[in-house]
Amino acid sequence: MEAIHERLLAWFDAHKRDLPWRGVGDPYAVWISEVMLQQTRAGSVVPYYRRWMERFPDVGALAGADLEEVLRLWRGLGYYARARNAHRCARQVRDGHGGVLPSSAAGLRALPGIGPYTAAAVASIAFGEAVPAVDGNVRRVVARLFDLPDPSLAEVRDRAAGLMDTARPGDFNEAMMELGATVCTPRSPKCGACPLAAGCRGRAAGTAAERPLRRRRRPVPTRTWDVQIAVSPRGRTLVVRRPREGLLGGMWEFPAVEVADGADRGGRPMKVAEPAAAVAELPPVTHRFSHFTAVYRPRRVEVAAEWGEAAGRWVTPSELADLPLPVAQQRIARAAGF
Ligand code: SF4
Repeated sequence: MEAIHERLLAWFDAHKRDLPWRGVGDPYAVWISEVMLQQTRAGSVVPYYRRWMERFPDVGALAGADLEEVLRLWRGLGYYARARNAHRCARQVRDGHGGVLPSSAAGLRALPGIGPYTAAAVASIAFGEAVPAVDGNVRRVVARLFDLPDPSLAEVRDRAAGLMDTARPGDFNEAMMELGATVCTPRSPKCGACPLAAGCRGRAAGTAAERPLRRRRRPVPTRTWDVQIAVSPRGRTLVVRRPREGLLGGMWEFPAVEVADGADRGGRPMKVAEPAAAVAELPPVTHRFSHFTAVYRPRRVEVAAEWGEAAGRWVTPSELADLPLPVAQQRIARAAGF
């Protein structure tokens, strides 16, 4: 029988999805696609990738861009730290590497925001380095192939390295990920359509669907914010910019104060001397972050005048549409009529 890598690559050649970053060979394009694909399905990434590559076709274009524009293009993809890190990384590559990405996994790993997975993916796909790239998909495939209940990252890497086709390391890594994304899926692996079924220990033992063991999710806390959409007589609204570092860093939002979970909404509006006319409570907007659930309680307040705000800006609806606003804030804006 053919070796595992031969069966895997024959399957990949015949069945791989047609994705715009495949086969381009440009390390920058591979890097950007890998950053976007973290935590995000390929189908959702495609339009973002296309827009990004049109606007930032190379490291120099990204490095020269304003962070706000970078975040705006990322708007809707979530996990914005990825965009901020890519921007910072591009600047370092421009300033410290002559605008050329390092060609080894070790060199890539030394850049800000590039972890072992991305470094290995870019080094293997763009530069042909025989280093396994291990994401959640690959870990699942390896755990099932070898019937390993809870393998460590190092063990998965070792096993994947042992299977690897050193002539086509990039294709091998992509094929493993593709198999995990489309055939060896988390809940119901399609073993009947799998090129590796004949040698799969998990399948033979009937344990495939339980490999790797799932860790119990810790319950995430809920945090609540009262949000104010102030609308001035000029039809503009006040937005403030978040600190550059941390959650949603550098993005814009409506002014908000965090309140105790379930607290009554009452009291005076924030920083408004006297509401000029209407005050409207809008339905709450809930957004799930990785480590907590945010509940935003928006209130639209028509105010008599615009006031100065150090971190803020009064914007028209079209200016608001151009700002990098997180998804939940976009929903709040729509509910408030912007
Ligand atoms: S045979 Fe089934 S469990 Fe094994 S690798 Fe293929 S899809 Fe996954």
